[in-house]
Amino acid sequence: MLLQEIIAKKRDGLKLSVSEISSFVTAIQNETASDAHIAAFAMAVYFQGMDDEETVALTLAMRDSGDVLSWPTLKRPIADKHSTGGVGDNVSLILAPLASACGLDIPMISGRGLGHTGGTLDKMDSIPGYISEPETAQFLNLTRKAGCAIIGASTALAPADKRFYAVRDVTATVENISLITASILSKKLAAGPDWLVLDVKFGDGAFMREQHDARKLAESLVRVGNGAGTKTIALLTDMNEPLASAVGNAVEVKNAIEFLNGTHRDPRLEAVTIALVTQMVFIAGLAKSEQEAEEHVRSTLSSNRPAEIFAQMVHGLGGPADIMQNYDEYLPRAAVIRDIPAPANGFIADIKTRSIGVAVVEMGGGRRAGGDKIDYSVGFSQLKKIGDKIEKGEPLCTVHAKSEADADKAQNTILEAYRIDSKAPDSRAIIADLVS
Ligand code: URA
Repeated sequence: MLLQEIIAKKRDGLKLSVSEISSFVTAIQNETASDAHIAAFAMAVYFQGMDDEETVALTLAMRDSGDVLSWPTLKRPIADKHSTGGVGDNVSLILAPLASACGLDIPMISGRGLGHTGGTLDKMDSIPGYISEPETAQFLNLTRKAGCAIIGASTALAPADKRFYAVRDVTATVENISLITASILSKKLAAGPDWLVLDVKFGDGAFMREQHDARKLAESLVRVGNGAGTKTIALLTDMNEPLASAVGNAVEVKNAIEFLNGTHRDPRLEAVTIALVTQMVFIAGLAKSEQEAEEHVRSTLSSNRPAEIFAQMVHGLGGPADIMQNYDEYLPRAAVIRDIPAPANGFIADIKTRSIGVAVVEMGGGRRAGGDKIDYSVGFSQLKKIGDKIEKGEPLCTVHAKSEADADKAQNTILEAYRIDSKAPDSRAIIADLVS
């Protein structure tokens, strides 16, 4: 069928067949579709939508546009997690070794930072020597040995999505639930998990500000993931303040290592991580009830096993063998590190989370354009959280910057981002809902 006929059918609000969707995706992949075809198709879907059957077909066609990994030699359940992106969200670094220690295999394909949100892969790249884009054989071997590996998607995984996303990005067609669902799931499913747990975030630091929009996305991801044959569930979690008390690349790695070592654990980060791993353990059938799953996760976390697995993963991908002990020697350190004092006494009432993520990008910790090089050392640490009591002059956080001028600018951002009130705010649940 001619590509323009497929586009016209969707433009006119008609349902596309599986073979029409699959031939359009093949044309994206083998480049018989031009960027103009792809843009018109994306805009037609943007306005007319796709039902679940069409979205499953798009997901599977994009998944199958490249390598689809399989794991015949792994004996344990294979699971993965995906977050829709947040600020100070270093969950993956802790979750992968923790879930592995709980009895799951986690071949995790992660992304780079997008907009104001950080990317797991950029964080891992701040560890000297870490090879975040290894050959598939090394990825398979390490997952077999350590039970987890965090790597980036090679061009061989879901290449049609890569091209489709690049066109959507510049044609105002990213914000469509079916297109986002197919894009996220095609990459995740190409890594071959049997079980998938999604962390769909809402709030100021998330892409979806409103909880009801995040819920619609979560429901679509869960229906389509299950429709594509992978048991999928989602948690809706609050992103109205940074999840960890660190935001940036190296500072988030340090925060995750200290979490795994048990020397410092941010409570909200701990709550989200435990909730996600509990769901993974439960849906994969490693516990009879959610309560039993949670007990298993908590007792595993109190052992040294997750830290050992993280060290094994880092070393297996070229990083230092003693990263858990000597992280301060290895992780890049910013030229200027200074505290930002609170301007008043009171309680932290509100944090403009997105602006903290943007400040990290502006300091060089994220990309303004595709090929930008990242400064892994910059960011914020020791961030106070909502509800904390603070006295004037006490640090709201520590800024890590490459120059005094950057630190001054970041200081202004923090002072604008933090609202201090004389009374303590009401507490908010971090886990808002489970969509299954
Ligand atoms: N992340 C993705 O991978 N794809 C989208 O479409 C949006 C966010």
